[in-house]
Amino acid sequence: MSHVHDSKHQTLHHTALDRLFRYAEFLRFGEVHIKYDHTTGLKAIIAVHNLNRGSGIGGCRLLHYQTADDALADALRLAYMMSLKAAVSNLSHGGAKAVIIAPKIIKDRTALLEVFADFVHSLGGRYVTAVDSGTTPKDMDIIAKRTPYVTCTTQKGGEGDPAVPTALGVRRAIEAALQFKFNQNSLEGVHVAIQGAGHVGFHLAKELTQLKARVTMTDINAEALSRAVDAWGVATCAPQDIYHIKADVFAPCALGSILNLKTIKQLKMPIVAGSANNQLAHHHHGILLGELGILYAPDFVINAGGLVYAAAMYNHSDPIKAMEQVRLIYDTSLDIFNKAKAMNQTPMEIAEGIAMARLQS
Ligand code: NAD
Repeated sequence: MSHVHDSKHQTLHHTALDRLFRYAEFLRFGEVHIKYDHTTGLKAIIAVHNLNRGSGIGGCRLLHYQTADDALADALRLAYMMSLKAAVSNLSHGGAKAVIIAPKIIKDRTALLEVFADFVHSLGGRYVTAVDSGTTPKDMDIIAKRTPYVTCTTQKGGEGDPAVPTALGVRRAIEAALQFKFNQNSLEGVHVAIQGAGHVGFHLAKELTQLKARVTMTDINAEALSRAVDAWGVATCAPQDIYHIKADVFAPCALGSILNLKTIKQLKMPIVAGSANNQLAHHHHGILLGELGILYAPDFVINAGGLVYAAAMYNHSDPIKAMEQVRLIYDTSLDIFNKAKAMNQTPMEIAEGIAMARLQS
């Protein structure tokens, strides 16, 4: 609990919930729904940020959280981000996110997901659920037996794992950045440094090496890294060295807040384009990157492939058409880079401006 003084010098007690309401107000939230089920132990939150453009779509996390407040803050932050992603990608959807607070032991995962599915269904389509950290396409299959408001299942002949379209989108954004900055239309011989050999990093390395790019990767998880080495023959480096190797592109695919004063000073690469969410530790680091001549491809634009794919599969269920839509991240990125140059703003400022204008219209 925090204490502040109002104008009459009375002490006001601000609980965690007060702070979360203020956060929700700041992000201009629509709805937050909470479900507890005593039989399965389900504790779930569905945060629906903005429905101006259509039903809210966003993944369901199933993770351990230290406190329920942490889970709620995560749901709010992520749902807001989904609104921006959907709007900048010109989807007819709003932003939403679900969080299931993982119990210490999940006794019956199917039963837990069934109750969650009923919770999703009770919102009548205002929220469409999908895969996120801790959930899988098979989990979505279980949910799909009880509600139509789900995507990323294994059953429609497409990619249930959103990391595959996410990696495609990032590759397309890297191509757009190379075109914009160096008038170069091929990845052949381009050296990309990927931080994180997890779901997206692994598939991004595949995309890039197939097009004859050189890839250097790092990960704090040796097993994940050797899987990428075995599959795609990538070079590796120690986690602390990834910022200062001499490559053409830095692709952060691990952590948020990775672009900060300490790391930016070390960067030798003229392009930053990766999948990680919230890469800029502070907004002004986007300006700093621009001043240093480093082109920063806004994270929420270029990592939208999973969302674009999930939305396309939800709306027309054609995997080929869905992947074609993801490929358009090239055009969206190039358009943002050109506008940023013409208006003397950062690509991040342009992207946020486009998303906000669409959300409010
Ligand atoms: P993941 O958990 O599968 O992989 C992340 C990898 O980063 C792990 O292998 C982890 O060991 C590694 N890592 C963590 N800290 C590191 C460090 N300091 N140095 C090097 N490696 C480190 O996650 P993912 O699904 O591949 O997603 C990667 C990022 O992209 C996340 O920020 C995620 O939020 C974002 N993202 C993912 C998707 C998607 O479709 N999966 C979509 C949009 C955004």
